Amino acid sequence: MKVLKFGGSSVGSPEAIKQVIDIVNKQEVETVVVVSAFKGITDLILKISEEAVQGLDSYKSEVENIRHRHLESIDKLIPKSKKTPIIQYTNRLIEEMNDLLYGVFLVGDLTLKTKDHLLSFGERLSSFIIANAFESASCIDMRHCISTNSKHGNAQVNFELTNKNIEKTFKNFSGISVIPGFIAANKKGQITTLGRGGSDYTAAIIAAALDAEVLEIWTDVDGFMTADPRKVSKAYVIDELSYSEAL
Ligand code: ASP
Ligand code: MG
Repeated sequence: MKVLKFGGSSVGSPEAIKQVIDIVNKQEVETVVVVSAFKGITDLILKISEEAVQGLDSYKSEVENIRHRHLESIDKLIPKSKKTPIIQYTNRLIEEMNDLLYGVFLVGDLTLKTKDHLLSFGERLSSFIIANAFESASCIDMRHCISTNSKHGNAQVNFELTNKNIEKTFKNFSGISVIPGFIAANKKGQITTLGRGGSDYTAAIIAAALDAEVLEIWTDVDGFMTADPRKVSKAYVIDELSYSEAL
């Protein structure tokens, strides 16, 4: 079994998602695919949460932008005959996010718990759409797998429970499974998150729990680089790196 993780830039557009699907379809073993929210969506949800809590109704048009981006992906990735229920569920998630934002707007209060709930929509939307873009893949609700404490925004994993959950969820697993990174749940089933960039962590937790032969973190650069190539034009890929150097 392999665990492959694709970050926001790897699922940033329908074209990029098509590449992800090709990569996964080429695997010859059971594959668990961990995905981030579409590129920029987590930042955008944070921004509109802040707008809503300040009583600015500009958040509303951004919700429509988020809806548009996801519906556009469905349009480009999912065959016509399969589309209707996918569009319906996507709209349902967007409406839920919209209602929550309206609550924040009315009350003028944004707790870390609510913020986690709002941020979860990024990965819930992306994983659902990507799973359905495969010819046949299951979409797993991460809230039933990774169990954490209630430290919202940066929750700590309860490995005993998590490993049991993952084992149970994947007991008869074959083929391809798509899982949202970054999100988890506390014992009460309330949504928590693993900290920004937490999808890598999700993938590592799953790979370890399933004793996967490989964990691959796919991104838009070819390896570990000397610097962020968007900021440093002379950055280059480091050929070899020890774990301690990486740290
Ligand atoms: N979407 C989350 C973030 O932007 C988690 C991740 O991408 O790893 O922080
Ligand atoms: Mg990342």
